[in-house]
Amino acid sequence: MTPGVGPLGATPGADHSTDPYLPAHGNGGYRVLHYDLDLDYRVTTNRLAGKAVVTARAVQSLSRFSLDLGTFRVQGVRVDGRSAKFTHRAGKLRIKPERPVAYGTTFTIDVRYAGTPVPVSGRWGDIGWDELTDGALVASQPNGAPSWFPCDDRPGAKATFLVTLTAPAPYTVVVTGDLVAQRRGSGTRTWVYERNEPTAPYLMSVQIGRYDLVDLGANQRAAVPHRLRAVFAHDFGRQGQMMTVLERLLGPYPFREYVVVVTDDDLDDPIEAQGMAVFGRNHLDGRRTHERLAAHELAHQWFGNSLTVADWRQIWLNEGFATYAEWLWSAESGGPSADVHAARWHAHLATLPRRVVIADPGVDRMFDPTVYKRGALTLHALRTKVGDATFFALLRSWVAEHRHGTVTTDDFREHARRFAPVDGLLTAWLDRPELPALPVFGL
Ligand SMILES: [Zn+2]
Repeated sequence: MTPGVGPLGATPGADHSTDPYLPAHGNGGYRVLHYDLDLDYRVTTNRLAGKAVVTARAVQSLSRFSLDLGTFRVQGVRVDGRSAKFTHRAGKLRIKPERPVAYGTTFTIDVRYAGTPVPVSGRWGDIGWDELTDGALVASQPNGAPSWFPCDDRPGAKATFLVTLTAPAPYTVVVTGDLVAQRRGSGTRTWVYERNEPTAPYLMSVQIGRYDLVDLGANQRAAVPHRLRAVFAHDFGRQGQMMTVLERLLGPYPFREYVVVVTDDDLDDPIEAQGMAVFGRNHLDGRRTHERLAAHELAHQWFGNSLTVADWRQIWLNEGFATYAEWLWSAESGGPSADVHAARWHAHLATLPRRVVIADPGVDRMFDPTVYKRGALTLHALRTKVGDATFFALLRSWVAEHRHGTVTTDDFREHARRFAPVDGLLTAWLDRPELPALPVFGL
């Protein structure tokens, strides 16, 4: 089925309302301002019932519009309190309000839905709401958000959130946000989390499990299975120091709190969410083997979460920067210097026959390790060229000026240009497939 075509098919807007890499995701004609989600989850039966109230502003007159929503049974849709017609298939909830929404109007879409949450499957495996052995997790990058709530699923479509979630009492529920209320019911607990910073749908997350909540000092906490507390305390023992280092290099941590979740299941890769990172039990081994990943995920709070890519073509702005933070942490914590990491990875990439243009790697390669490593090498090349003082000033002002906004590679080029004539360097590293030589300082 062609996206955007159907009995109630919205005409694809001229406002680039879908993502170039994920054209089935994203919707035109409105901007979401706020999501108010009221969810009830039964762990044993893996059943989710939800009421979503989406507040949006029409950017054109709307006789119909759509939201992204996975395989739930939709029980009813109201627009500004009036019952609306809808169809729901192939991940699109298409809505025809009783009367058109006028251009510029702020309106509400009320969706009631229920069913078994099913992750969005595809080239990256199962993404989104997923069952754990005893609980659930949400890891939505890049396209899993519709697996648990109706949304405009584009990274640049950032909004605020209020999430109320009721789950069986023995379980701890951690949602990406600040806990503002907690209530006890009969056999249940209700948790209310507020996310006031603009947040991309893919960065919203829910973690449900039998977790101990552990204070990591200052603005950090963790949710950890009881039996893993000792090994966690060792492996994440430098979390405070890591936060101090990244704040010194990048500027203030962008959210009120950082929560580390360790699931009692193995996970392929850790994943970032807003003010949160999620690790599997396999990322603990009592030897800090995976500490570089802790630095990577923490760095995503600046690169990816506060500064969010306008669309997925710009993925290196997330992954190249987070990878470079691994090297920065290594240097600061007694490991190899960034120069050593850069030389090693440059030599490795030079042996690969495949070349990737990292400013637009293509959907097949957006999570290719080359994007991560060459992205980091680009930053290292820039740093070598301009020197530490200019490089870190450039980085900190990039973070400060785009705080809680969306960014593109061209924004970064424009920003870098203000500090030094580096257009040629960035073009060679970002836009051409050939791997440039690493610059030598002062040349
Ligand atoms: Zn990453």
